[in-house]
Amino acid sequence: MKKAFVTGGAGFIGSQLAEELLKEDYEVHIIDNLSSGYRKYIPDGALFHHLDICSASAKDIIIKEKPDVLFHLAAQADVSRSIKNPQHDAEVNIIGTINMLEACREAGGCKLIFSSTSAVYGNLDKNRISIEDPALPISYYGLSKLAAENYIRIYHELYQLPTTILRYGNVYGPRQTPKGEGGVVAVFLNKLKNRQPLTLHGNGKQTRDFIYVRDVVSANLAAVRNGNGQTLHVSTGKPTSIQEVAGILAELHPEEAELIYTNSRPGDIEHSCLNNEQTIRVLGWQPEMNMKAGLKAAYRSMQNESF
Ligand code: NAD
Repeated sequence: MKKAFVTGGAGFIGSQLAEELLKEDYEVHIIDNLSSGYRKYIPDGALFHHLDICSASAKDIIIKEKPDVLFHLAAQADVSRSIKNPQHDAEVNIIGTINMLEACREAGGCKLIFSSTSAVYGNLDKNRISIEDPALPISYYGLSKLAAENYIRIYHELYQLPTTILRYGNVYGPRQTPKGEGGVVAVFLNKLKNRQPLTLHGNGKQTRDFIYVRDVVSANLAAVRNGNGQTLHVSTGKPTSIQEVAGILAELHPEEAELIYTNSRPGDIEHSCLNNEQTIRVLGWQPEMNMKAGLKAAYRSMQNESF
């Protein structure tokens, strides 16, 4: 039986990845300190280690269990929190990642698949970002993720540790909370649920590359089999405006939804779309969910959620 560790397996993306791994007959171990995740999301059948990724115990359990693959998703993933507390952000995202790298190395070289982010690019003024484009983050979160990526690169080079770095676009779907990264869909869904207006900054024509959570999960699974040493985008390669998202959600909502336009926020990125051609080639993966169907699934699940 194949063995996988999922750090952050009680969170939005990690819990859904753990579910799929169980379906593929993996023995699944989850490391999570429940700082932003929920115990209720840990799937039945997964072995839960209530630990911090920075701890010696987390490292020891990986060395003892010697997994085939470690999906490293646990992170401080809140941009504004990273600005308020850069030290904590760096501890979790950089020191925590080094701890996981050391564990993989000492465990005999299990593959590490890392969840990274388009936030590493900062405010790059480009319609479609390629992986070769310069990474100049504008938040400590983007910076700590980029630093973690570089530690992974050097572990790969020095010790031939099998690795894949996946930079996600704006992930959305069931279980996303209105906190954390890229959560405009979850923020809008929460507003609709609480009968509040949807606030759009500026003209609402800013675009993002929205990727459905199940497509992120399938990219992680594909990265077990294919690729080694690359950094890849997990995205649709298609821009969708915030206004379009608000429009689709308002249509799904049975009551009248009010849209309010306010001043644009300083530092907000205008357009962000990630070229995914290399990912399709290397991983043999394709994003499958279209935006309308994905938003419908997210809308339905938010109606039954309480955070
Ligand atoms: P999430 O907050 O739902 O999940 C993160 C999980 O990590 C939580 O369960 C939390 O309790 C756990 N965790 C946090 N710090 C920990 C620590 N020190 N030790 C152990 N566990 C810890 O976030 P998510 O949206 O599922 O994000 C998962 C990963 O994907 C993160 O690495 C994030 O940076 C990355 N990512 C997310 C998005 C997005 O749009 N959601 C976009 C790009 C990248």
